[in-house]
Formats: sequence, C-alpha cells, structure tokens
Amino acid sequence: TPTPAGRRRVLLKLSGEVFGGGTVGLDPDVVSSVAHEIAAAANAGVEVGVVVGGGNFFRGAELSQRGIDRSRADYMGMLGTVMNCLALQDFLEKAGVSTRVQTAITMGQVAEPYIPLRAIRHMEKGRVVVFGAGAGMPYFSTDTVAIQRALETHCDEVLVGKNGVDGVYTADPRLDPDARRLERLTFDEAIQRDLRVVDGTAFSLCRDNALAMRVFGMNDPGNVTRALQGENIGTLVTV
Ligand code: UDP
Repeated sequence: TPTPAGRRRVLLKLSGEVFGGGTVGLDPDVVSSVAHEIAAAANAGVEVGVVVGGGNFFRGAELSQRGIDRSRADYMGMLGTVMNCLALQDFLEKAGVSTRVQTAITMGQVAEPYIPLRAIRHMEKGRVVVFGAGAGMPYFSTDTVAIQRALETHCDEVLVGKNGVDGVYTADPRLDPDARRLERLTFDEAIQRDLRVVDGTAFSLCRDNALAMRVFGMNDPGNVTRALQGENIGTLVTV
C-alpha cells in the first residue's frame, strides 16, 4: 500500500547487539553511523519507522535463568530498548532528521506514548519514528513488535538488519562451508528448513499478513541506506 504521498514507507528492525558494538552498553560511534545511514534515506524521501531491540542491555530469558522473575526481567529488557531509542534519536537529530520516540510503556518525560495514527502522521511529515519498550508485554520480542508496528503503520516492507551475516543462508554459514546465501525465499520454505531469521511469533505474524521481509547485513557501510531505499540486497522473504 503506497502512502498518501506515494512515498515508500518501511520499518527497520535493529537488534540491540548492533548498538552494543559487541559488548554490554552502547557504542555511540556505532549508533552515530547507523543514524547517518538512516538520515540519508529519510532525507531522500523514504518514510522510516525503527524498532530497536535491547539485547545489548538485558534479555529477559537470560536474566530469569539467573533468578529474576521472568516478567520483571522482561520489563528490564524493555527498558533497555528505550535507552537505545534515545541514543538513536539523539544522533538522528544531530544528523538533521526530526525524530520522535514512541514507547509502549508510558514515560511522558522521555518519549511519546505509542499512538499509531500519530506515528503515521509523523512519518508523513518526514519524521523518523523510533518505537521503544517493545510491545510493553513480557514474553514478547522486539522482532514480533517490528512486524506488528510495520503492519499497523502500513509499511511496505520490514527490513531486518543483521550483524555478521548478509542475508538468509541455506544453512548456518559459520558451521557449514557449503552454505550459500538465498536471494529470495518464501516463509514456508524458511519454516521447513528451520531457518531462524527472526523468532517464530514474528515470523508467523509476518507470513499470515503477507508482509515482505528483507534480511540484510549491516557490516557493509551504506547497506542500511540501501535497504531503506529499496535496493535488492540480502534476502527477500515473501509468501
Ligand atoms: N521484551 C519483552 N517484550 C517485548 C519486547 C522485548 O519482554 O515486547 C524484553 C525481553 O526480555 C527481551 C528484551 O526485552 O529479551 C530485549 O528485547 P529483544 O531480545 O527482542 O532485543 P534484541 O534481541 O533485538 O536486541
């Protein structure tokens, strides 16, 4: 569905790992370079929503194995995503792109609440919208939220940026030297081959609603801009 202005609208999912630069916490240089790549596409007229993960701070499932109640640990995980959102907002604003953060857990001093129609309006005005705090619900993942936000804000495509791999492979390229990258595949093929691109809930939500998903590597500079602008990089997953 094209936006009223006929512009491309996409949802970019970035995992917390990307922001951490390999460790716990934030690497501002990494966030800054991602922000500049998003800014380049936004300035070229692409409407952009971003869902940011929080794995560089806390993952609820891991914390709960170490004794913290699972739901509480998940809330800690969600709060971690908000720190990533604020860092991204800051660097996007510095790159000259007006940016709003909307969170699924209300925190008025820090961000707007998640209001879908308002998010759409921001995007129509050329603002980047960064969605934080996941779904606001324990036992969910930011992958699933990325698909949900993409659907609710009528995005044309969801773009999943990966660290270390540049798309979907026939097998794990780190384990199997014969693994090769696929240019296209269907959701059903991915399920049959047990290719875990995003988690299962996210995957079935995407498939059931026939939303196209592009998986691409973030290691090559410029790839985020390319993916946002609709270049055929990585792997396209469709019904
Ligand atoms: N989380 C949650 N509900 C959500 C989204 C996230 O409970 O809707 C929690 C969960 O504990 C998760 C953590 O936030 O482990 C960080 O999110 P995620 O693991 O999706 O981040 P990523 O792996 O993309 O960095």
